[in-house]
Amino acid sequence: MAKLIDGKRISAEIKEELRTKASLWKQEGREVTLAVILVGADPASCVYVNNKKKACEFIGIRSLSYELPEETTQTEVLNLIEELNNRSDVDGILVQLPLPKSISEEAVLTAITPQKDVDGFHPMNVGALCTGKRGFVSCTPAGIVELLKRSEVEITGKECVIVGRSNIVGKPMALLMLRENATVTIAHSKSVNLKEITKRADILIVAVGKPKFITEEYVKPGAVVIDVGIHRNQDNKLCGDVDFESVAPVCDAITPVPGGVGPMTIAMLMKNCMEAKEM
Ligand code: NDP
Repeated sequence: MAKLIDGKRISAEIKEELRTKASLWKQEGREVTLAVILVGADPASCVYVNNKKKACEFIGIRSLSYELPEETTQTEVLNLIEELNNRSDVDGILVQLPLPKSISEEAVLTAITPQKDVDGFHPMNVGALCTGKRGFVSCTPAGIVELLKRSEVEITGKECVIVGRSNIVGKPMALLMLRENATVTIAHSKSVNLKEITKRADILIVAVGKPKFITEEYVKPGAVVIDVGIHRNQDNKLCGDVDFESVAPVCDAITPVPGGVGPMTIAMLMKNCMEAKEM
């Protein structure tokens, strides 16, 4: 049976390190502030925002919360972002996605000054990742690299296959694994013979958004499997994009859902907030 890659434990370790650093900074009179903007009351978004606030509280990051009604206009959101961009006491700005349909995500995300873009979604930060410059990296892919490193998974020279090419997971994931010297393949819905592609992977990262999509026939024996997906099944239980029961017996190491990639995303957001202070 595969070794479990314990995102809960590793994320707790990272948060503890950040807490120590934040407390030292406080003694020097430096306080980190994150502004979180939520438009509307999507239940999942409310849960995510609350979890982010709790993580800030634990670490000692001040969080400012802007919970705006569903009918807020794009101009109002952009004006708020401009105000926060100009405030020297605000280090990071996060806009919880998805936004209501009347507001352009692109317009909002590009309005955040890149030095405060702790989600790493601004094209300047994506470009920085692409060209190997300093910048914020999208939290979920950054969390996965941290998970691999802290679990002592060798990345250099390994075949890494990423299933999914979204802007927030698949593409930045591929760039990060390239930066870590893996040989990277990205597969997507138009890929032909997906099983043949995924079976080449020493490290298989799955972000397809389809419950239990990857079964053992997609996995090379001895591979490391990272499951990014999060879904709730009919019994209200969480599951991932990987069929854990089928894949765990054939692979070397695997992330569970819950308790794998999920907790790492918030830990990396907190890390980005601390780095924002030094930008
Ligand atoms: P998207 O829906 O944006 O992207 C899904 C990707 O999977 C697309 O690139 C799509 O290809 C590809 N895909 C879909 N069907 C197939 C198929 N049959 N074969 C091969 N590729 C396919 O999803 P996200 O990247 O935003 O998220 C992926 C999953 O990760 C979701 O379950 C999401 O909830 C979860 N997630 C978890 C996070 C965490 O913190 N743990 C954070 C972010 C996301 P194409 O481009 O061709 O359409």
